Amino acid sequence: MNLDPNVKELMSHPQRIVEVNIPVKMDNGELRFFKGFRVQHSNYCGPYKGGIRYHQQVDMGEVTALSAWMSIKCSVVGIPLGGGKGGVVVNPKELSLGELERLTRGYIRGIADVIGPTKDVPAPDVNTTPQIMNWIADEYSKYVGHDARGVVTGKDLEHGGSKGRNIATAQGGVYVLDEIARQQGFEPKNTRVVIQGFGNAGGVMAKLLFEKGYKIIGASDSQGGVIISEGMNPDEMLACKAQNETVVKCGGSSGKVVTNEQLLEEDCDILILAALENQVTAANADKVKAKIVFELANGPTTPEADNILAKKGVMVVPDILANAGGVTVSWFEMLQNADNKYWTEEEVFQKLLPIMVNAYKELKKNADKYGCTLRNAAYVTALKRIEAKIREQGVL
Ligand code: NAD
Repeated sequence: MNLDPNVKELMSHPQRIVEVNIPVKMDNGELRFFKGFRVQHSNYCGPYKGGIRYHQQVDMGEVTALSAWMSIKCSVVGIPLGGGKGGVVVNPKELSLGELERLTRGYIRGIADVIGPTKDVPAPDVNTTPQIMNWIADEYSKYVGHDARGVVTGKDLEHGGSKGRNIATAQGGVYVLDEIARQQGFEPKNTRVVIQGFGNAGGVMAKLLFEKGYKIIGASDSQGGVIISEGMNPDEMLACKAQNETVVKCGGSSGKVVTNEQLLEEDCDILILAALENQVTAANADKVKAKIVFELANGPTTPEADNILAKKGVMVVPDILANAGGVTVSWFEMLQNADNKYWTEEEVFQKLLPIMVNAYKELKKNADKYGCTLRNAAYVTALKRIEAKIREQGVL
């Protein structure tokens, strides 16, 4: 794409990194200190946007990388937002609800000067819930002295959240996958889908695809997987999983129990990766039999595996498109908060559909033009848009 080296340099570093030391009064009276970060990667296209994760292994390098991914993801779907990410080094499972609230409020006071509804808008990520987002909205509103709940997305509905947010990632994925399946001549009833990671994103995507007539033949979670070649009903699978804490026990008499490794190598048309990063690697990419690999999770395919899959002719739908329905509905939440006017779920999905489908079409156009994978086409598309904004702002 002949990327201007200055654009590459600009996008290779975050614009700002904030590190805060958060004192928290624990239930036993002791004062403990936690480290928190907010990394603002780029705001050429709009306010910084990206989740906050609470995890004992959070570090600034990881948060920085994730913030850059957000700049690209927002640009891939063409929404007017930049990229950011936040994190606190903590195992939230070790805290009481009160301690978690005091930690969250302390973190927000620490970064309050650099966030805001038109500046930087956090969201949920690993281990951060709608309840935590409600506290953030409240603490920030107190700080600025008026209702500023648009400072954060992923809130509960009664605190200004958007309808449809909880299924937006999966629904956005279905819009893209259905468009690809149509273009490639797949008939839903003859299309065999395997899903790695039957959680929030993967379980819901299974339900939505099943409703469209797709045949869901495989599902897995951290304990292993199950294959039912005549197809499964995801609602029944999810109900059984809720009871047994795993899908492994839910295959019935016709179900074949498989390991997580075997599941990825199962004969199918579409493999949806909805669990963790680094799942398809140089060690197993050659054994993947699916014609389409769909990255609902972030970073499930390693760069080496990407090359192997491309050589085999497997189409990989990259995470920065596949799961962008989540951030798009977060943007809808920002718009509704700014207007103080709320949309029906139907309106939310009517607006999401063309954004996802048009984003895919643009990627496909660039993939054909440059003779590259959809992932590289996503970077080309995103960086061209960001470059135009950088020039508009006179930075170059
Ligand atoms: P989740 O915790 O609800 O679900 C993850 C599922 O993966 C669980 O069922 C877990 O048992 C399973 N799993 C864990 N290790 C596994 C393994 N080795 N093999 C097979 N399954 C395994 O999480 P989620 O919210 O569904 O997120 C999943 C992925 O999607 C993450 O990468 C996340 O970043 C990404 N994502 C989610 C959203 C969203 O809105 N939920 C948005 C964007 C991206």
